[in-house]
Amino acid sequence: MSKLLEGKTALVLGVANRWSLAYAIAQAFSREGAKVLLTYQSERQRLTVEELANELPAASVFPCDVTKDEEIVSLTESLRKNGHGAIDAVVHSIAFANRDDLTRPFVETSRSGFLLAQEVSAYSLVAVARATAPLMAAGGSIMTLTYLGATRVVQNYNVMGVAKAALEAAVRYLANDLGPTNIRVNAISAGPVKTASARGIKDFSKVLDSVERVAPLRRNTDPAEVADTAVFLASDLGRGVTGNILFVDAGFQVIGLTAG
Ligand code: NAP
Repeated sequence: MSKLLEGKTALVLGVANRWSLAYAIAQAFSREGAKVLLTYQSERQRLTVEELANELPAASVFPCDVTKDEEIVSLTESLRKNGHGAIDAVVHSIAFANRDDLTRPFVETSRSGFLLAQEVSAYSLVAVARATAPLMAAGGSIMTLTYLGATRVVQNYNVMGVAKAALEAAVRYLANDLGPTNIRVNAISAGPVKTASARGIKDFSKVLDSVERVAPLRRNTDPAEVADTAVFLASDLGRGVTGNILFVDAGFQVIGLTAG
């Protein structure tokens, strides 16, 4: 059977370790025949990401802290220099908020904590899309990861929920701007998965317990399911889909109130 991403090159930002959703996506892209390029935020992560890249195998690993415009520019320059001047897909799987802001009431969010969450978790998609769109001359697919806390109140998700709301709005505006050049922009709204970022959210294991109890599929989300949806979005099967938020959450988002 032919592979869904044969001949395509994908840039994946946000692999921190083997539990990262970005890593599950990179594995699925690799399985489907894509050439996968990874980034890491800082020297602290370089060795881990290089090791994971060798397992894929990823073609190359590049540094990129998305809060630094110069690093985003040098990422695209390095891609060109290393023979990756044409890419087909970009995965933005990046978020950050101060731990304090994920434990105390939202009303106590500081100005700096609010801006930090917005910068890393929402604005970075705009910056990355602007920098990488010129590498997608033949069209392409940009995707990001979001969560239900963007539109509903989820206890302790707080400032990150507001950042995800901005991220989802950015997806729609980017889809409109980049659509004429056949670049699609979408978000996958994943159900809760135990990753390094998720551990920063107070009482996260209670969230996993309640999803398992009430989600229509009566279980939590498997990162491989998120990854397969990313494959769909990156592939030609997703060619008509843009500006969308696709839920991969065992159906939890349809639940309003359950008895007991
Ligand atoms: P993760 O493994 O901790 O991934 C988050 C990534 O963001 C890490 O690789 C982190 O790098 C990176 N990052 C943070 N600040 C950065 C910066 N300034 N520049 C570049 N990279 C930066 O956790 P994850 O759960 O897979 O998160 C991936 C995405 O999925 C996030 O957008 C998250 O909100 C979203 N999501 C997660 C869940 C869940 O339950 N896990 C559910 C829905 C959506 P460092 O580790 O090097 O800082």
